[in-house]
Amino acid sequence: MEVKQVRISYGLPSRAFFDYAEVRSESFPNCDDSVLGGCIVREITHAEKNVCEQCNTARDEWRKAENDNDKD
Ligand SMILES: [Zn+2]
Repeated sequence: MEVKQVRISYGLPSRAFFDYAEVRSESFPNCDDSVLGGCIVREITHAEKNVCEQCNTARDEWRKAENDNDKD
């Protein structure tokens, strides 16, 4: 596990995001996805987060599988 800078996303996330966030918290909680900053946009753009390579790999594989599904 390694502390990395990740982007902060502002604004209200979509319904699809919440579905994804559920999968993420179960399967790859420490991937380097951006973190939610809330609805009020502030100057700070990055935050520190514990990131692990296995989670990044699991996230990338999950996304790839999702994209493949969309094509069918
Ligand atoms: Zn991990």
